[in-house]
Amino acid sequence: MTESSGEFDVVVVGAGAAGIAAAKHLVSARLAVKVIEARERLGGRAHTVPSGLGFGIDLGCEWLHSADINPWTRIARDLGFTVDETLPDWGRRVAWFEGDAAQREWQEAMEAFYDRLDRAAQDGEDRPASSVLEPGGKWNALLGAISNWANGAELDKVSVWDYGGYDSTYLNWRVIEGYGTVIARYGEGLPIELGTTVERIDHGGHNIRIATNRGELTACAVIVTLPTTVLAEERVKFSPPLADKVAAAAGLPLGIVNKLFLRLDEAGARELARESDRHLVGALDRVETGSYQIKPHGWPVVAGFFGGELSAELERDGADAMAEFARNELAGLFGAAIKPHLSPIAASAWGRNAFSRGSYSMALPGHASDRKVLAAPVDGRLFFAGEACSIPHFGTAHGAYLSGEAAAIDAVAALKAARPEDSPNRTAAAWRGAPPIPAGT
Ligand SMILES: Cc1cc2nc3c(=O)[nH]c(=O)nc-3n(C[C@H](O)[C@H](O)[C@H](O)COP(=O)(O)OP(=O)(O)OC[C@H]3O[C@@H](n4cnc5c(N)ncnc54)[C@H](O)[C@@H]3O)c2cc1C
Repeated sequence: MTESSGEFDVVVVGAGAAGIAAAKHLVSARLAVKVIEARERLGGRAHTVPSGLGFGIDLGCEWLHSADINPWTRIARDLGFTVDETLPDWGRRVAWFEGDAAQREWQEAMEAFYDRLDRAAQDGEDRPASSVLEPGGKWNALLGAISNWANGAELDKVSVWDYGGYDSTYLNWRVIEGYGTVIARYGEGLPIELGTTVERIDHGGHNIRIATNRGELTACAVIVTLPTTVLAEERVKFSPPLADKVAAAAGLPLGIVNKLFLRLDEAGARELARESDRHLVGALDRVETGSYQIKPHGWPVVAGFFGGELSAELERDGADAMAEFARNELAGLFGAAIKPHLSPIAASAWGRNAFSRGSYSMALPGHASDRKVLAAPVDGRLFFAGEACSIPHFGTAHGAYLSGEAAAIDAVAALKAARPEDSPNRTAAAWRGAPPIPAGT
């Protein structure tokens, strides 16, 4: 194993959506950059794996949320990938099984809930999102299940300001080759050191020292894109300590959401011949239920989606337990005969992974303003990015991109302000006072 070392203008910690977006900007500004990534792959929580059936499946992000303003939409197209503009049928989940009258009733209850949420996000005191449920409301279980999928946590654990503050254009598309594939491909060619874990960031001296399991690097500036739970658990130590960052990260833990992909054999696919790209809910009368995407893109697959405590429990019990839970819920929807036609392909376990420790960030009640605290730079040379730093687009891959790019723009401006006379190909040595290197060398 080679040693990790060197002097850089900027070191980026993490090669997920935020780190890759930051590094792209820094490289285009002709800075000396190194990205340090603990995993042996790019993408972080964006991860497409082979299904064994001729197509890839996304264990992490899948939907180009707010696709019309999402930078990954353009990048996917520029890279030659296929954007599928079929909109999800999330809004019709109830109608598929309960009919149009129930669907209308659900629609009204849901709109009223989100109106209350929006209003609560704009005034009063931050409190648990469960406080805007209608007491004894008929659709409370489904609203709770949706929070589990959207936040990875139950409504009573989620800040009403934060949940209501999320911004969307309601246009959700997908990439046939996988969102994870797009993000990893975009990062190809960047100066990234894989399989290298940052252990300590010492920002007390003139240069910042980044200690890894494979040696030490120095940099003028560092962009930290670590998931909040990783920061809160102090898996990377800061010296001097950054107590406000650790506290902010703890207020924005990653909720737990996991996916399970089941293969439909030929007989099973015939059984569900009428279904394609539909979302169904395992049960409408309990919060602890899965969302099932039946034959995404027409593929012979059922994708299960589990959130909150149920997801944490299934993750703890293992992929077989997750598959059995899903098969039982699907038997409740389609009849017991469907069970033998479903076999597991892949399951995620984001909460147990040391480099994510969860799926996406949510704010605990009273902690919505922690996103601002987390995103604030320290001493003009330690910058923070990642999905949790985005106020309107938290929890998403495009929020991560935008925060990474913003941190990189700030870092370039800070470096320029410190040495305005520098040539664009400034190096770490020049930053510390050596003469700028002439262009072209
Ligand atoms: C199941 C699931 C479904 C999702 N669905 C969607 C969706 O449909 N649409 C959407 O927009 N978003 C979705 N998301 C969220 C989206 O994937 C994330 O918000 C986004 O990928 C986060 O990017 P990031 O760069 O902020 O963090 P990460 O991708 O987590 O990047 C951080 C990087 O830091 C690395 N790292 C950790 N510790 C260290 C260390 N000590 N040293 C060095 N490197 C380290 C990690 O390995 C990782 O690569 C989903 C996520 C999950 C888990």
